[in-house]
Amino acid sequence: MVMSLTGMDIANASLLDEATAAAEAMVMAFVNSNSRKKNFFVDKAVSPQSIAVLQTRGKGFGINVVIGDVSNLSRSDIENLDLCGVMVQYPDVNGFVREYATLANDIHSTGGLMTVATDLLALTMLKPPGEWNADIVFGSSARFGVPAGYGGPHAAFFAVADKLKRKMPGRLVGKSKDVTGKTAYRLALQISAREQHIRREKATSNICTSQALLANMAALYAVYHGPIGLKKIANRIHAFTQILKAKLEDFGYSIHNASAYFDTLIINIDGPTQKTQSIHDIAEKIGINLRKSGDHTVGVTLDESVSPQDLIDIINVFALASGANLVTLSQLASPIEFIPDIPVHLQRESSFLQHPVFNMHHSETEILRYIHSLQEKDLSLVHAMIPLGSCTMKLNSTSSMIPLTWPEFSGIHPFAPLDQAQGYYQLIKELESDLCKITGFAACSVQPNSGAAGEYAGLLVIRAYHASRGEGHRDICLIPVSAHGTNPAVSEQLLSRSGIDFLKSAVMAGLKVVSIKTHEDGTLNLQDLREKAEKYNKNLAAFMITYPSTYGVFEEGVQTACNIIHENGGQVYLDGANLNAQVGLTNPATCGGDVCHLNLHKTFSIPHGGGGPGVGPICVAEHLASFLPTHPVVPTGGTSPIGAVAASPWGSASILFISWAYIKMLGGTGLADASKLALLNANYIAHRLQNHYILRYTNANNRVAHELLVDLAEFDRKAGLKVADFAKRLQDYGFHPPTCSWPISTCMLIEPTESESLAELDRFCDAMIAIREEVEEIISGKQPRDNNVLKHAPHPISIIALSDKEWNRPYSREKAVYPLPYLRERKFWPSVSRIDDAYGDLNLICECPTVEELAV
Ligand SMILES: *Cc1c(COP(=O)(O)O)cnc(C)c1O
Repeated sequence: MVMSLTGMDIANASLLDEATAAAEAMVMAFVNSNSRKKNFFVDKAVSPQSIAVLQTRGKGFGINVVIGDVSNLSRSDIENLDLCGVMVQYPDVNGFVREYATLANDIHSTGGLMTVATDLLALTMLKPPGEWNADIVFGSSARFGVPAGYGGPHAAFFAVADKLKRKMPGRLVGKSKDVTGKTAYRLALQISAREQHIRREKATSNICTSQALLANMAALYAVYHGPIGLKKIANRIHAFTQILKAKLEDFGYSIHNASAYFDTLIINIDGPTQKTQSIHDIAEKIGINLRKSGDHTVGVTLDESVSPQDLIDIINVFALASGANLVTLSQLASPIEFIPDIPVHLQRESSFLQHPVFNMHHSETEILRYIHSLQEKDLSLVHAMIPLGSCTMKLNSTSSMIPLTWPEFSGIHPFAPLDQAQGYYQLIKELESDLCKITGFAACSVQPNSGAAGEYAGLLVIRAYHASRGEGHRDICLIPVSAHGTNPAVSEQLLSRSGIDFLKSAVMAGLKVVSIKTHEDGTLNLQDLREKAEKYNKNLAAFMITYPSTYGVFEEGVQTACNIIHENGGQVYLDGANLNAQVGLTNPATCGGDVCHLNLHKTFSIPHGGGGPGVGPICVAEHLASFLPTHPVVPTGGTSPIGAVAASPWGSASILFISWAYIKMLGGTGLADASKLALLNANYIAHRLQNHYILRYTNANNRVAHELLVDLAEFDRKAGLKVADFAKRLQDYGFHPPTCSWPISTCMLIEPTESESLAELDRFCDAMIAIREEVEEIISGKQPRDNNVLKHAPHPISIIALSDKEWNRPYSREKAVYPLPYLRERKFWPSVSRIDDAYGDLNLICECPTVEELAV
C-alpha cells in the first residue's frame, strides 16, 4: 500500500510515529554521507512536532538541523551548506502543495538525500514523491482508519528508493517460500543483519517494538476501500475544502494557500471587519477547535468524518464573525462541478493500488472473511501460552481494553487544549503517579513510544543533568554484556565508516560505550565494573543495567554496582522492561538506580499487537525531574533542555488507560501477587524441565527469576539439532516458540508470566519433555539426523495430506501432528512448513501476494 501510494521501491509500515520517522530519515541521510556532512536542512513548514524531534535527535549525532524557507534554498546554498539532506512536507503544515522536483535534482547533484513527509490520502490526488525523485518518503498512516486517540498510537510509514533498502530502520516484511514452494512471509534481513537483539553490533536501527497493529489497521482500511473508494474519500474532502474556501472568500477572507491545497486552509482573519464576537469565541461556543496558525491566521483541516452539517457549522463561524448571512444546508445542496484546485502538473496521473487484494474485499462480509482468514494463520494468546522470554506476553483483559472503543477516548485530537481533555489528563497524571510509586522514583514521562525510545530518552536526561552541572563532557556509558540488545546495538555502517563506537540507545544520546564483563554464572563482574568506573571516572556519564538481567537472574550485586557508579560521578540507568519480576517486591530506586524505563506493553498489560503498539515511560529520581522531555505543541509543564522525543506530548495516550486499569483493578496487593506468581510459574517450569534440559543460569538456591534460559547446545553436537528445530517443532504441539537464540545463541528464553494456569504450564512442559524424547531417538540413531520429525517441523495439513506414496518419511503422520493426546482436541494448524530464510533475504520482495498465491 505504501509503496504504491508513495511511488517508492520499498517500504516499512510500522515505525513509532511520524516525528521519529523524520528523525530516522535525517540519520539515514547523515549516514549516507558517511557521517561527513553534518548539516541537514528542514523546511519551516514541516510539522512543528517533527522539527522538535529532529532537533533532539540531531544533538546526539552531532547533526546540525538548519531550519529555513525551502523556497529560498538555492543550489549554491545547498553546496555552501554541504547538506547531507533536505526535508520538506507535501502538503506542508500550512496546507500548501508545492513542487520539489527541481530541489530533488539539486540535492542529488551534491550527493544529498531528498526526504519528504507526506499524507497517504493526499497522494491519491497528488503526484507521488517517487515520481519526482524523492529518496525517503515517510508520514503517519493514522488517517487510514485509526482513531486520533489524543495522539496515538499511530503507525508511521517509511519508504525508500531501492539503493537505500539495506539501511532502512525498523522491521521489513519480506516474501519467501516454504519447503513446498508455498508463499510465506517473514521478517526479512533480520537474523542476518538487522535485528538488534540478535546481532546487537550489526543492527540498522534501534527499533524493536513497532506499531504493527496500527499498520495492519491502516492496510485493511485500504483493502476495504480500494483505489476507487479512497479516491472518493479524498475527492469529497477536497470538494468540501473548495466549498469552504469559496464561501470564506465570499465573506471577504483571504486564504494564504489559495493557489494549491488539498484539505487544509490557512485563513487570514484580519480581513473582514470583526463583529462583536471574535472568531475564536464563536468557534468555541459551538465546539469547533480552530488551529491558531499565527497571530492573524487560523487553520482548518477537513477529514473524512466531516459531514455536510459540520461544514455548514464551520462556514457559519466565519459568517457570524464577518457579519455575513448564515448559510443553510439547502444552499449547499446544488451539485458543483468537481475540478481539483491543484496545479495540473502536481495532480496524480498514475494508477495506484491495482493489486487484487485492494480490489476484492469491498463488502462487510468480504472484509470480515478476509480478516478472519488472516487471523486464522496466527498462533496467539487465544490458542495457548506465548512463552516469549523478555517479552512478557500476559493476559490483556477485556475489561481494561473495552474503553479503546469509546469515542470519548478515541475521538480526542492530539493537540486538543488541556481544558478539553481534563479526563485524559487526570488519567495520565494518576498513571504517572502510580508508576512513580511502583518504581520508587519522583517523576515520570509517558512520551516515549517503546522501551528502546525510553532508554534513549532516559540517557538524554542523564546527559542533560551532567551538562547542567557543568559536566557535559561526561560521555562514557558502561554496559554489561548481559544487557538487552537495544541498549548497545551498534550500527555497522557507522562503525566501519567513522571508526567510532556508534552504538544505539546510548550512542543516539551521544555516549561512548564500554562493555562490562559477566562471570561464568551470568552475574555482573563487579571487579571489572570498579576498574572501568575508576579508569573513566572523569568522563563517566552512565551505567546501564538490566534488572533482572536478560539471563533471567536477579543481580545480587546490583546495589554495590550502583554505589560504584555514584562514587565515580556517574548516573545509573536501570532497564526496567522486565519489571514483571519486581513490582511490589523491590524497585529500581531500591536497587540504586537514578532513571528507569518500563515497558507498559510488557509488565503493564498492553497487548503486543504482533510487535506494537507499546509505551516506554521513564521514571526518574528527584534530581532529574526537571530534565524530562517536553513538547512544542502542547506544553507538558517544565522547560527541559531535552525537548521532544515523540510526535505527541503523551505518546500513545489512548492505550495508557489499559495500564491504568490494570493497576487500579489489581491494586498494590494484587500487583505484588502478580509478581510472585510470575516468579513461581517460571520456577515451576524450571523445576519440571531441569531433569530433561540444561538450565543455563540459576542462583545459589537453584532458582531463576521470572524467566529461564534453556541451553540446547548439546543437541547440536549430539544430533545436529539447532534452536530453530525445537522452535518449529513446538508449533506442531500448538505452542508459540519461546524467545530463540537470545541473549545466547544456543538458548531458548522462556517466560510464562502470572497469567498462565497450572494446567497450561503443565501442557507446555509436557510438550517440551515429549520433544526431548523425540530428540533422544535421533541421538540414539533410531531416527536419522537429517530426516526426522524436528528437522521437518512444522507440519501443515498440506504435508499431512500427501498421498501414501509421497509420504516417505521415517515417522508416521500421526506422530507428526498428534504427538500428545491433547492435540486431538485442540490443534492449531500451522499454515506453512519450514520457511526458506536464505531465499527470502536474497530475493527481498516486500509485496503482497499475487492472485495465484491468494488462490492457494
Ligand atoms: C523488550 C525490552 C527492551 C526493548 O523494548 P521495546 O519496547 O521493544 O523497544 C529493552 N530492554 C529489555 C530488558 C527488554 O526486555
